[in-house]
Amino acid sequence: MSRTQALWEQPGSVAEQFWRHGRADFPIYDMHGHMGAHNAIYFARCEAPAMDAHLARIGVRRLVFSHHSALMGSMRNAAVHRIVEGCSERLRMYVAINPHYPEFIKEDLALFDKWPFAIGLKMLSAYHQVAVTDRRYEYALKFASERHLPVLNHTWGGVPYCGGPQLLELSQRYPNVIFFHGHSIFGDWDWSRRCIVEAPGNCYLELTAVPGLRGIIERLVRDVGSERIIYGTDLPWFDEYQVTGGVISADIGDDDIKNILYRNVERVLGTDW
Ligand SMILES: [Zn+2]
Repeated sequence: MSRTQALWEQPGSVAEQFWRHGRADFPIYDMHGHMGAHNAIYFARCEAPAMDAHLARIGVRRLVFSHHSALMGSMRNAAVHRIVEGCSERLRMYVAINPHYPEFIKEDLALFDKWPFAIGLKMLSAYHQVAVTDRRYEYALKFASERHLPVLNHTWGGVPYCGGPQLLELSQRYPNVIFFHGHSIFGDWDWSRRCIVEAPGNCYLELTAVPGLRGIIERLVRDVGSERIIYGTDLPWFDEYQVTGGVISADIGDDDIKNILYRNVERVLGTDW
């Protein structure tokens, strides 16, 4: 395919399909979402029914989210699971892990096996100001390791709670955990590469916030391969159309786009969830 032609004019390309129909002809897996209102921003759609309708519109098969209130400790994960039960076609949840509530962690994980719509754990260490390598996460990470669960971390370049060195150490300490590096160690792109190539094969870069930057998806694909990159939006903070458009507009191949938007997740987690 020639790049002198506009992407959406290349017959049969993912871009042409998307520009023409406003959706892809394959399922999309969004592995980084949230839910609930937030005092710092107005969200047009942040509750389950409106989010689910939006996901249907664009062809997202699964959004895995953590509820803002569960991350902050003002709502329990059991209540989040009840929301998903009532709206379970596309929504799946991460159990929010807040290291300041150790008793919540133990109580909630004791229920995990009874929650069919909970598929992994979410850690937000920069906000909780507890480094990902801290002992307060040990119980949750051992639990994830025993079950070979995915753990989505908020990561950010240069942040001592969840930067490259901390994430690499964590992934080497827990080789049976599947780590999704939310925001791809944003801004510290050499560490993004190192956190994949020096880890024991258990890590993936998750793209939330990256598609807004020019040329970074291309760099990450070059550095670690599209097989190690997954898609996420932070919905409702960012919109599915914006972020999917950013991935599809990147100067990478259609196979790379498909790896990022769905193939990698189906390979790692299967399709039966
Ligand atoms: Zn997030």
